[in-house]
Amino acid sequence: MTSSSSSKYSFQKPKVELTFVIVGAGLGGVSAAIALTLAGHKVKLLEAAPELGEVGAGIQIPPPSTKILDVLGCLDAVDAVSIHPENIYIHRYSTGEVISKQNLVPYVKEKYNGMYLHIHRADYHQCLVERAKELDVEIFLNSRVDTVDFENGSVTTSQGVTHFGDVIVGYDGVKSRTREQLTGKSDGAYNTGDLAYRALIDVEDMKKVPGLEKYWEKPSIHFWWGPTLHIVLYFLQGGKTCNIVGLCPDTLPNNVLRQEANHDELLQVCKDWDQDLHKIFNLIDDVGKWRLQDSRELKTWVHNSGNAIILGDASHSTLPYLASGASQAVEDGAVLAGLFSKIESRDQIHEILKMTESLRKWRSSQVVQGSANCRNIYHLHDGEEQQIRDSKLYDKTPKLGCPNRFADPVFQDFLWGYNAFEEVERAWTEYKNGKMPTYTYPNLYEE
Ligand SMILES: Cc1cc2nc3c(=O)[nH]c(=O)nc-3n(C[C@H](O)[C@H](O)[C@H](O)COP(=O)(O)OP(=O)(O)OC[C@H]3O[C@@H](n4cnc5c(N)ncnc54)[C@H](O)[C@@H]3O)c2cc1C
Repeated sequence: MTSSSSSKYSFQKPKVELTFVIVGAGLGGVSAAIALTLAGHKVKLLEAAPELGEVGAGIQIPPPSTKILDVLGCLDAVDAVSIHPENIYIHRYSTGEVISKQNLVPYVKEKYNGMYLHIHRADYHQCLVERAKELDVEIFLNSRVDTVDFENGSVTTSQGVTHFGDVIVGYDGVKSRTREQLTGKSDGAYNTGDLAYRALIDVEDMKKVPGLEKYWEKPSIHFWWGPTLHIVLYFLQGGKTCNIVGLCPDTLPNNVLRQEANHDELLQVCKDWDQDLHKIFNLIDDVGKWRLQDSRELKTWVHNSGNAIILGDASHSTLPYLASGASQAVEDGAVLAGLFSKIESRDQIHEILKMTESLRKWRSSQVVQGSANCRNIYHLHDGEEQQIRDSKLYDKTPKLGCPNRFADPVFQDFLWGYNAFEEVERAWTEYKNGKMPTYTYPNLYEE
């Protein structure tokens, strides 16, 4: 991997070198490991699985993350295996009529100075892992953390191996063991009542079906919003693969988080929908069903006396309706590393963890709540409320409160305009002036 960065941002070298133990090597944990290493610290990255990798299909990477990936030295590698979607389209579920459009290329680059990418998760994760290895991050596989000793700064795996660090960072996902240990509760993952169908299609197969050219010729992201569910379609892997997600009420049996399904189920749940979707669903060979869980805002992410914090899905798991969960996890790591690059003495460690929480908690909670709110918007039954929603969608100059949250100028700016590095600079100046910095974005919703 050749690692270069065109960014004007970088991490400074800290006055004190620390050791971080990161629990969990998902997209959040690996990106934070890279960031902390570049910020001059030593990282031990512990992963429960015997191999590094990501399951699932596509993922969208919005500009706050692509800007971070640039500083981490991974953007070129990620970009090389991504697609730059041209527009976001919202279709009426029954007819396929486009009822809202938001440009991405060139708009996002011009307005937010960062790219908007679509990528396969496995490719994204692999780019991050290669960069972590290039930076000599110590990675421990088969290392499921079982207990955390907050007073002594150590974690012990189920095999009985103990790892010590100055800071423990729990990036161990929605079922986080670190969160359980830190909060003393085991109620972090809530069923949302929705599930996701996820499938991939070979675009060569789409090309054989007349009428589907409008999707694969110019890759964009397409949503169909309908009663109780919505469908998302976008492209990956240089346009060779089409990613389909169906988000609908959860019908999985209790205690089952994932199950195989077949395309007949999707055809059935979208029985009276746009015939293009039927043509597309008929091309699906394998489809998985995943229960969707999210979090309630926690009182704190930081242990009251030990130097430990939980980040990523461990502290703010979300419905994927704003396509921003992993992006929040990546932003968390950039802010954590940015602040720790400025550390002057060990007695600042706990304060810097509190500062990380203070800068990140409100924002990620808005994404969790905003995503849940999107379900109410996307899944309306036909009727008066849906007609009011659609009349706002047709507005060529979207305003605050636009139901397409990606087109609402205020919400969009909140979601895509965030700059982790500028937040760190602002926060450090405030901290040095004796204040605990925080982050909010005013008036995200209509009165
Ligand atoms: C259908 C769907 C679509 C999505 N689309 C998008 C999107 O387009 N854009 C976006 O930004 N986000 C999206 N998300 C959200 C995104 O996938 C998550 O927010 C993100 O992957 C969370 O990363 P993480 O590293 O915090 O946690 P995880 O990815 O869950 O990683 C946690 C890691 O910790 C390991 N682990 C767990 N327990 C332990 C332990 N005790 N000890 C050691 N290791 C442990 C796990 O094996 C895993 O590797 C989507 C989610 C879903 C479900």
